[in-house]
Amino acid sequence: DPTKHADWEIAEEAESRMKDVFELSEMLGLQKEELLPHGHYVAKLDYRKILDRCKDKPDGKYVDVTAITPTPLGEGKSTCAMGLVQGLGKRNKSVVGAIRQPSGGPTMNIKGSAAGGGLAQCIPLTPFSLGLTGDINAIMNAHNLGMVALTSRMQHEANYTDEQLAKRGLKRLDIHPKKVEFNWIIDYCAQALRNITIGQGGKMDGFNMQSSFAIAVSSEIMAILSVAKDLKDMRERIGKIVVAYDKQDRPITTTDLDVAGAMTAWMVEALNPNLMQTLEGQPVVVHAGPFANIAIGQSSVIADRVALKLADYNVTESGFGADIGFEKFWNLKCRYSGLKPHCAVVVATIRALKCHGGAPIPVPGRPMPEEYGKENVGWVEEGCKNLLHHIETVKKAGINPVVCINAFYTDTDNEIKAVRRLCEAAGARVALSRHWEHGGDGALEFADAVVDACEEENDFRFLYELDTPLEKRIELIAKEVYGADGVSYTPDAKAKLKRMEADPEMKEMGTCMVKSHLSLSHDPTLKGVPKGWTLPVRDILTYKGAGFVVPVAGAISLMPGTASDPAYRRIDVDVETGKVKGVF
Ligand code: ADP
Repeated sequence: DPTKHADWEIAEEAESRMKDVFELSEMLGLQKEELLPHGHYVAKLDYRKILDRCKDKPDGKYVDVTAITPTPLGEGKSTCAMGLVQGLGKRNKSVVGAIRQPSGGPTMNIKGSAAGGGLAQCIPLTPFSLGLTGDINAIMNAHNLGMVALTSRMQHEANYTDEQLAKRGLKRLDIHPKKVEFNWIIDYCAQALRNITIGQGGKMDGFNMQSSFAIAVSSEIMAILSVAKDLKDMRERIGKIVVAYDKQDRPITTTDLDVAGAMTAWMVEALNPNLMQTLEGQPVVVHAGPFANIAIGQSSVIADRVALKLADYNVTESGFGADIGFEKFWNLKCRYSGLKPHCAVVVATIRALKCHGGAPIPVPGRPMPEEYGKENVGWVEEGCKNLLHHIETVKKAGINPVVCINAFYTDTDNEIKAVRRLCEAAGARVALSRHWEHGGDGALEFADAVVDACEEENDFRFLYELDTPLEKRIELIAKEVYGADGVSYTPDAKAKLKRMEADPEMKEMGTCMVKSHLSLSHDPTLKGVPKGWTLPVRDILTYKGAGFVVPVAGAISLMPGTASDPAYRRIDVDVETGKVKGVF
């Protein structure tokens, strides 16, 4: 009973009867050599062999789960994705879920690992939450190796003459210490590492300069893992990563540092998606990383391709609200993959609608404000403006979405009726789903609505074509998707914009926005549908390897902070059995 037990207790109970990887493999019709077991309950899938064997098999239906602007607690997108997989399973559909791997940052901080919740989860929970098969470790090793190469090269160029460098087969790169673009990564929310000085000590202790850490999942290597087609594509992309500029303002890449091959060497195994399962035993592939506010934040192109070949339905998820998660799924991921979605789900909760309609903003780790326990149809109706905005965004992609009301047992009939009425008036399908409380049996209305929606023809189209100049593209996203009046730039961002627009290679690159997920605007305190505002772009990063430019709006940082009452305080191990307690 999820009203009485924590998510990890439910997961632990279900894990006592879960399928082993060989049973999952049989369900998926895999060949022996396509399954690479990591213990009994997790496996990697050899994507290359599977895609090769299934190349003539038609793809299944492609379903993306996105949401309204969430509260800081999350609105159950992962829970709905798992619930939908379970609901389709109950309807005897062949289905595979595809979700991102969690990051150690939120797992040890406030939000948890987001494996779903209640009776709709991805298991086994402990490996899911604590590093799985090591993909993020591989990313950290690959990425930080690039930084080791860069910083040691700067030291050697400072200490050696041109002749001494030539003896070692090196030509001076003349890296500008103030134009280093690359930084270090670690998979925690470590605010103390946002601004650091490195190379303190003597001249043998490294080049002395300002540096920084970002959270691992925001790394360009993670972005590359999310969009790469195969190993060859990944190797090429890693070789194009711009780590710095030289004193003449020319880009310095990992190829200039002779490190791209070794960085890719760390990533060979990580390209294979991970096989897991729902609480009810449907297969789920887990690949790439979260955080659609600062990264792509969704399962990889490879994982989705594999899932589409192995089942009739692939339910994938694009993090946070449709303004950032779905926008990236739509204009970045689908552009890279060439895949077209058949259906998009917008998840809404009564609590988030109340929050957008005027209720106090809930704070993670503190009791819910008591207003949420009482019926308030007025707040729900007012909050529906945010939901309707996201419905319109999905429609701009040419898809008529399915709204999933992720039911909490505290919601009232009048509140739910109000949402149904307003969404139906906007022409969207609506389904109430009780998967959190009842698993797949609670998600049948939801599953049926998605099956119906998948049969409908859609007119999927991008918001912009790649020949749209960068400034125009950012404006389109800001106005059409966020509802801004326009965009402003800091002088630094404007200078970078001009440099990028002068570079012909930029034409081929997508746009991956960095923005708060807690508002349609850049300001997390503005709820509902903010009006009369301008999107402030303060920086534009270049991820030349991944193939995107990354405009950064507002105060958001690529290194989140750990709060004063984080989850790690409640995590421990049973020293007799080795079982981990308290991760969620
Ligand atoms: P998101 O993917 O949108 O961030 P999650 O699926 O991770 O959200 O859910 C966030 C939290 O909310 C989880 O702890 C989950 O157990 C809880 N939750 C989700 N759906 C419900 C529900 N219907 N009733 C109660 N709690 C829920």
